[in-house]
Amino acid sequence: MDLHALTIRKASALLRSGEITSVALTQAVLDRIAAVDPAIKAYVTVCEDAALQEATAADARLQRGGPLTPLTGIPYGVKDCLSTTGVRTTCSSRILENYVPRYDATVISRLREAGAVLVGKQNMDEFGMGSSCENSAFFATRNPWAFDRVPGGSSGGSAAAVASGMGLFALGEDTGGSIRMPASFCGVTGLKPTYGRVPRYGLLALVSSFDSIGPLTHDAWDAALVLGAIAGRDPRDSTSVGVPVPGYTSTMTGERLDGVRLGVPIEYFAKGIDPAVECAVRTAITHLEALGAEVREVSLPHTEHAISIYYLILTAEASSNLARFDGVRFGLSEPPEGVDIVERYLKTRGKGFGPEVKRRIMLGTFALSAGYYDAYYLRAQRVRTLLRQDFAHAFEVVDALIAPVSPTCAFKIGEKVDDPLQMYLSDIHVVAANPGGVCSLAVPCGFAEGLPVGMQIIGPPMGEAGVLSVGAAYQATTDWHTRRPMAE
Ligand code: GLN
Repeated sequence: MDLHALTIRKASALLRSGEITSVALTQAVLDRIAAVDPAIKAYVTVCEDAALQEATAADARLQRGGPLTPLTGIPYGVKDCLSTTGVRTTCSSRILENYVPRYDATVISRLREAGAVLVGKQNMDEFGMGSSCENSAFFATRNPWAFDRVPGGSSGGSAAAVASGMGLFALGEDTGGSIRMPASFCGVTGLKPTYGRVPRYGLLALVSSFDSIGPLTHDAWDAALVLGAIAGRDPRDSTSVGVPVPGYTSTMTGERLDGVRLGVPIEYFAKGIDPAVECAVRTAITHLEALGAEVREVSLPHTEHAISIYYLILTAEASSNLARFDGVRFGLSEPPEGVDIVERYLKTRGKGFGPEVKRRIMLGTFALSAGYYDAYYLRAQRVRTLLRQDFAHAFEVVDALIAPVSPTCAFKIGEKVDDPLQMYLSDIHVVAANPGGVCSLAVPCGFAEGLPVGMQIIGPPMGEAGVLSVGAAYQATTDWHTRRPMAE
């Protein structure tokens, strides 16, 4: 049995029955990292000793018989934008290369309490800006299905790690597709919860009004287990919502979808989508219909504006969020103290930020400047309301929407990195969910030329239980999610 390739559900059962230990499971994941990460480069930092200590503690807890959760003893990794006490948290940026937080993000402390075992921090596009993981200041991560392809971004390290058995699950962050898009490119399941469902305390912000933390896993069941552990109100995040956290797996047992109304948004199947991707998603829709779902076409008429308003609001909020990295308060400081403050500020940011981050800071500063604020930022916020209304109208007649995650499969490393506009356009199907305030689950639904294809199941605000049960019914009757790259 390949321990590193287990789902959480299976591993948890084996841990509880005493057939395996958390130390053995964690060691299997660490061995897998040693074997395949030199080629894939998913991890920025691996915490081997701490992980084995946590695993030993989990084994003691399992032996005592409590308190146990489905995540007790399960090894996982996190995107390097979530604060971890004593473990370097870089956002894959030079400016935070040596930053070691003194506190845990709420999601990390919740996973610690649940008994999960942190094995390391995963590579990402710098500050979450990118769709390919090539904008990391350290190195590009490779797609485990084809090493000359990108894993998607920005949570590319997290998706590549889960796909190749370097962690049974991962936590990513999705501002405009960063969980769903790499999940789709690497053939894993990824959930972007509704904004506010999961607390953001301790997340290094990209866009404070879009960012959502969520799981990357092998299937919807595991995603439900992780969401159940991290969701729920946190007094340290005033935007986290007090709605009770349901027992997500309790509604996920069926293989039938009778009475479930699914919408297919016509705008998501427009020109430009790769015919093989469209074919895989349409085949999946037919499958969902065969499970009993009622399928109809719907329209989200403002979809064509999603990319423009997303990138406008993103650059504006990101430029303001990143202003704190100035060589005085956090991270890199260049040159040393004593020189003129403005010079220090300019040199720190000049050296510390990569080209994509600088581009977005400049665009955002422009969009927020006097005279342009109304024309750009304010107008984008108004169109954002129209996007939200599109979703609200659709959810009056359907329970969930089915759409492709990306118009293509994983593209080649180097193919888009010099053409920011092409890179931004690869986000066309994922960005609306964040300004739109909805949740979305990405699940594998086929292959095109040996590369995974993903489908989104988009649900209304706080509709995670619904999208997870549609995903679980689909996965109970298909096997795309069980395929693994690089199997021995
Ligand atoms: N591709 C998106 C961007 O570059 C992803 C952002 C995100 O979700 N962190 O902005």
